[in-house]
Amino acid sequence: MAVEDSYFLFDNNLYKQIDGMAMGSPLGPLFANIFLSHYESIWLKDSPVKPVLYKRYVDDTLWLLPANSNVSDLMSYMNSRHNNMRFTFETETNNSINFIGLNIMHHEYDSSKHCYTTNVYRKPTATQLCMNFNSFVSISYRLSVLKCLLYRAFRICSNWQLIHTEISFIRSMLLRNAYPGWLIDRVIKNAVTHFVNPVLKYGPRKEAVYIGLPFLGKSTDSLRATILRIGKQFIPHKDIIIYYKPGKRSSNFFHNKDVTPTALRSHVVYEYLCTQCNLGYIGQTVRHLRHRVAEHAGVSHLTGNPVKSVVHSKIRDHCGLCQNSSCDLSNFNILATGSSDIELLVKERLLIDQKKPLLNGNVGSLDLLLF
Ligand SMILES: [Zn+2]
Repeated sequence: MAVEDSYFLFDNNLYKQIDGMAMGSPLGPLFANIFLSHYESIWLKDSPVKPVLYKRYVDDTLWLLPANSNVSDLMSYMNSRHNNMRFTFETETNNSINFIGLNIMHHEYDSSKHCYTTNVYRKPTATQLCMNFNSFVSISYRLSVLKCLLYRAFRICSNWQLIHTEISFIRSMLLRNAYPGWLIDRVIKNAVTHFVNPVLKYGPRKEAVYIGLPFLGKSTDSLRATILRIGKQFIPHKDIIIYYKPGKRSSNFFHNKDVTPTALRSHVVYEYLCTQCNLGYIGQTVRHLRHRVAEHAGVSHLTGNPVKSVVHSKIRDHCGLCQNSSCDLSNFNILATGSSDIELLVKERLLIDQKKPLLNGNVGSLDLLLF
């Protein structure tokens, strides 16, 4: 983006910031945006100073003001608009101002002519660390880091000289992150060719098919290439998008969370086994297992005393007939878990079909029409 204009005199950029909104909350940016979208149009209409350019990103706003504008008038106007809002501002220093990831340089090459150049802005604290080339991730993800930086350079830098400087910087940064020079140069060449002569695609957008694969190293990358090649051949009207899921991680082997006691686990398929005759029963519950066990025993889960209105239970019926049998938590174990009601019902039915527990009477709670 380059702004060149000889009709107006621009010599102030005003940057304002809104405080007083809970920007840490996930809904903060959305509310800030709705709030400001509503008010800014009203305020701008009545503003004592009319900006030549006005761009806002959530709570940061870039103003380009006409020469000799009274900034303090504008500030007191903006600060008197709403009790909950305080605006602060920054003006350009050394003919330059930073706005989000953008550095805007102001050039004055005649007393009446001004122009602006834009460049990529990095905070002084930026570490220049990015995804290392030796990281255990797909090559497509590693190359995306480079392509993304190049795309940003191309979109933000306003002339070829700035693009060249930025690309040189990206190259040295990626070399320090172990990317091979020949690969960087090849991607740069392809990217620049694509930016200058973009390949335009016509026709309707293809339907996307997402395939998730566990990432297991180089072989996954070649599997991806094979799937894409087969897809192109047999379903050319669909766009196959392959993404990777982590395989086994070290956290899978070292659990650092406390184990939930069996009595307090919920959304489970459970099995009851009679210690005397080994007859079994399979059921499912979305409540804490101890609630369901108490229900089977016909006692209160709070006091352990018999309850007056008991629900029918095949386990309790059995305990009445089988001598020395019991119905407490030690008779129960968890066979499966499920995140939804339907998942629990399906798992319960499949386990009943597999184990055929006699107390269920060969009846599952859900009919599965999978034959
Ligand atoms: Zn029994």
